[in-house]
Amino acid sequence: GLDRDAVLATEALTKRFGGLTAVDSVDFTVDEGELRCLIGPNGAGKSTLLELITGQLSPTEGSVYFDGIDITDMPSHERIDAGLSVKFQSPHIYEALTVAQNLQIPLQRTDRADVDSAIRETLAEVGLADRAETPAGDLSHGQQQRLEIGMATTLEPTLMLLDEPVAGMSVEETASVAELIRSLNDDGMAFVVIEHDMEFVRKISDRVTVLNQGAIFQQGSIEEIEADEDVQRIYLGE
Ligand code: ADP
Ligand code: MG
Repeated sequence: GLDRDAVLATEALTKRFGGLTAVDSVDFTVDEGELRCLIGPNGAGKSTLLELITGQLSPTEGSVYFDGIDITDMPSHERIDAGLSVKFQSPHIYEALTVAQNLQIPLQRTDRADVDSAIRETLAEVGLADRAETPAGDLSHGQQQRLEIGMATTLEPTLMLLDEPVAGMSVEETASVAELIRSLNDDGMAFVVIEHDMEFVRKISDRVTVLNQGAIFQQGSIEEIEADEDVQRIYLGE
């Protein structure tokens, strides 16, 4: 049966593209307040699994449960309203708008009366308090990624999904995003972070799930995963 403490659970979740099985009968469970990293070689099915969870894709078979509710057929905007936020691999910010205006966009979805204080709070959280009036297009790559995480946090999600949040970032930018994720997690927000930068995974992770050829290959602490010879083999074989 389903784990009652789980904020997220997939059951035999499967996605086929023609003859290719991108996600193959996956039972993936995330506990309340957990910070989970999802790793695996290119083409393992990580992004597809995330898009099945957010509703960008519908599964060929299987189910997705969020907070104990079957959301398999729920449209993605309703999942967002229910507390499931996502930051995709490619940036989704409005470059011509200021940082503060970008943060205002997701808040229009909510009934939060305190929009101004919500924006101020988020600016401080993501370290962009002195950039409120800067056009988002003028931010560094790392600042843009933090802005987008900020946009997702204004909705106060229970669970946040991030697809490769530090791809293309400098060492300093990567460290600041790691710090941001950890502090949001300390405040109780659960995360699923897709990443293949192991240095970064080591910085943030509680538990790691390894996906390979569409299936869960291994799960454990970062130490267990790094010491696992089978995991090393699939990475070397990439
Ligand atoms: P990862 O994010 O782990 O690199 P993906 O989930 O992007 O892997 O892809 C898993 C597999 O599914 C790959 O073989 C990829 O080519 C295939 N795939 C992903 N999206 C599609 C699609 N829309 N149509 C056909 N094949 C796809
Ligand atoms: Mg991917």
